[in-house]
Amino acid sequence: MQVEKTKENMCNCLCMMCPSYEKICKLKNQDENKNISTKDLQNKTHYEKMFCAFEKSNCIHFDRGCICQNCEVFKKYGLKHREYCLKTGGI
Ligand code: SF4
Ligand code: SF4
Repeated sequence: MQVEKTKENMCNCLCMMCPSYEKICKLKNQDENKNISTKDLQNKTHYEKMFCAFEKSNCIHFDRGCICQNCEVFKKYGLKHREYCLKTGGI
């Protein structure tokens, strides 16, 4: 099932707490990640969070551990993969 690009799902995403989400990427993306509207979210194919609903990251390049399996979105949509930031659709 396709993960819906909703604010609720975005709030439940654990990517920002993940060891793979490097500090430099957090700093680079903090303004957009904070200020995006629901309408803008729906129209995007790329976003630097909730990678299971979007494409892979342009900033994260190394697997330092994935915590997707602990995420409510992962459970809600019955996701099967991990590391959605490194490969679109997950590994
Ligand atoms: S499953 Fe992973 S990528 Fe998707 S919302 Fe949860 S933590 Fe983020
Ligand atoms: S998709 Fe997985 S590995 Fe990538 S940032 Fe999110 S929780 Fe971490």
